[in-house]
Amino acid sequence: MSASIIDGKKIAAGLREDMKARLSARPLEDRPGLAVVLAGDDPASAVYVRQKEKACLEIGINSFMHRLSGDTGHDELLALIDRLNLSDEVHGILVQLPLPEGIDAKRIVSAILPEKDVDGFHPVNIGKLWSGESAVVPCTPKGIMTLIDSTGIELKGLEAVVVGRSNIVGKPAAAMLLARHCTVTVCHSRTKDLAGVVRRGDIVVAAVGRPNFVTGDMIKPGAVVIDVGINRAGGRLIGDVEFESASQKAAFITPVPGGVGPMTIASLMQNTLRLAGL
Ligand code: NDP
Repeated sequence: MSASIIDGKKIAAGLREDMKARLSARPLEDRPGLAVVLAGDDPASAVYVRQKEKACLEIGINSFMHRLSGDTGHDELLALIDRLNLSDEVHGILVQLPLPEGIDAKRIVSAILPEKDVDGFHPVNIGKLWSGESAVVPCTPKGIMTLIDSTGIELKGLEAVVVGRSNIVGKPAAAMLLARHCTVTVCHSRTKDLAGVVRRGDIVVAAVGRPNFVTGDMIKPGAVVIDVGINRAGGRLIGDVEFESASQKAAFITPVPGGVGPMTIASLMQNTLRLAGL
């Protein structure tokens, strides 16, 4: 068996096209606004922020960039968040992580109004996600769910195994799969017999940050495999799933690059529209 490829690049492009069409009829002053706060000079963060600005421009979202130096303190950051919280032009606020050393990211993220928290990282929105209330949810897991839904499978009652328990991917992905009535298991670095657990998964989400960590022998025949990993090796991007062997067993699989990656920004744009009430 050879798996069908879930084309995240194409699905994300379709979502962006749809949002662009919805916004095109609106005057500029009546469009959603996304404020992005970047503190410091982390090169990867600078790339992500540029990609987000580009997507806003393409879709017709007003983007407000705030680039701050690496020695910005709590007070300055909190004052900026306060201004953005009060601004009528800004519907979503995103603080690019990681913040410079010495800055308490939890304190900064908690200062964002929950109704402007476009990343879904505010404790109120995390609580809503886990208690089954409607909320803005983190962008990467939201993209993962869109990719799984693109296969047309019925999620109810399936075994889902999430490898990784970070606050930005693993845990919210688990909450979203649970909300869709999957039986969810979350694996991490202390999990015993990880291969045996992953082998139970009708759905496998790999968010580990280790190249080729999940191999084909761990995949249940017919599973849906979502590879979140982005690992750089020899100038190439490699996922957390060994694609060659896993695609022999899975029914559906995401590639790296071109799977989850493009969905994260498309989901961010969707969240911005949602916070603007669109
Ligand atoms: P983290 O480093 O925050 O979390 C990694 C998780 O993997 C942890 O829960 C850790 O367990 C677990 N883990 C590490 N080693 C092992 C092991 N040997 N066995 C079992 N579990 C293990 O990573 P992120 O969640 O932030 O990211 C995961 C991957 O996804 C990375 O490659 C990242 O680049 C990528 N990513 C991609 C995005 C996209 O848009 N495509 C967005 C965000 C991330 P423990 O908690 O016990 O330490």
